[in-house]
Amino acid sequence: MQDQRLKDFLKEFIISDSQLQELYKRFTSEIQKGLTLATHQQADIKCYMTYVQDLPTGDEKGNYLALDLGGTNFRVLRVSLQGHHEAQIDSKVYVVDKELMTGHGTKLFDHIANCLAEFVDEHALNDQHLPLGFTFSFPCVQVGLTEALLTRWTKGFRCAGVEQEDVGRLLKEAIARRGDLEIDVMALLNDTTGTLMSCAHRNPECRIGVIIGTGCNACYVERVENADLLEPEYKVDKPNILVNTEWGAFGESGKLEFVRTDYDRKVDKDSLNRGGQLFEKMISGMYLGELVRLVLADAITQNLIFVRSGEKQRLTNILKDNAGCVETRFISEIENDTFPAFLQTRNILKELLGLENVSVEDCQKLKYICECISKRAANLVAVGISGLINKIAEPHVVVGVDGSVYRLHPHFDTYLREAMQKLVNPKINYELMLSEDGSGRGAALVAAVASKN
Ligand code: BGC
Ligand code: MG
Repeated sequence: MQDQRLKDFLKEFIISDSQLQELYKRFTSEIQKGLTLATHQQADIKCYMTYVQDLPTGDEKGNYLALDLGGTNFRVLRVSLQGHHEAQIDSKVYVVDKELMTGHGTKLFDHIANCLAEFVDEHALNDQHLPLGFTFSFPCVQVGLTEALLTRWTKGFRCAGVEQEDVGRLLKEAIARRGDLEIDVMALLNDTTGTLMSCAHRNPECRIGVIIGTGCNACYVERVENADLLEPEYKVDKPNILVNTEWGAFGESGKLEFVRTDYDRKVDKDSLNRGGQLFEKMISGMYLGELVRLVLADAITQNLIFVRSGEKQRLTNILKDNAGCVETRFISEIENDTFPAFLQTRNILKELLGLENVSVEDCQKLKYICECISKRAANLVAVGISGLINKIAEPHVVVGVDGSVYRLHPHFDTYLREAMQKLVNPKINYELMLSEDGSGRGAALVAAVASKN
């Protein structure tokens, strides 16, 4: 992409090396703040205790149910752990519509219980009395493995009556209201914890689990002596604890203002959780498409792209009036497209904006806009992962990664590694590994590990 004016316009999305280092410094200090009892309350990154203290050995066996709530889909799963690092999984996706995501919590949990009952029925599991792991992908203060108080909703959820409540209890009550299900809720966990457990099940050197999907977050293995928030009785027998960082909240006290743009401020302003999850809002799938939408509208207004169409007003109106119209998967498709045909890009532009006969230059420009926004996201994730790798400081660290952005974007992994190269201690060898069904397998593993104790 050669257009200097467009390059200048997008400059504020480019993270310089010195900004990267500064972000790294601020990030690691925020993690430390979260871990430390005296500063925990003020910390952006809370570093919640998960009460998971054992990684799987690979020998775990048995049948489990799992629930996965918090991404794009709600799923019920049956996971059969078979020893030898193997698992077999059946799952079904259930729709959770907007009304359920933003209505009263009782309705949401009734729906979850109903889906669970349907699944148990369809799989003839009624009399098996299976233990269940609930992957609930929101920030929670855990009181133990089976009690988790929702700190606050994130992403697209905002159900009344759930914040500060124990989601384990809400689930059990919904199951009890039906009266026909016998389920043992054995564990509540975050999706990042599931990802870490699921990767550790295959590769014992896994120490970090990362989600880059609808939301963004990470979990890692910390030594108990560094876990100020952990009650002393948990420090006696076990050397480690998994910590759910909730790094998506980074920036809430102003530490990201030096890299945030007006587009980020607008995305935040229009979100369900204003002022919250500012790091997440620069990275995750729920927001990347929105950033592209706003940037593209401005670029059109400033005669930087699609000038030849002569339809500036019509195009910007479509973009400005239709929040959510630029889906994050378009970014992946556009960045995956090839010069000079740009078939995918042309299809998207026709569908989205009714544009035809777009020039090769305009396709390149659009691709460049997408690249700037996804590269920035990857740089920010790199700051987080590198901070955790260097903190763990073992000679070889495996990182389990999952989530739609990471999976679907053709170059996210490359961007991420490029930036990590600049941040990870060169003495540490690291590996990024794609997680296989972390929420399901991970939930079963947490339940399995819990029942061993
Ligand atoms: C939530 C995290 C979750 C992440 C990825 C964030 O919005 O706060 O708990 O791990 O999304 O799903
Ligand atoms: Mg998920």
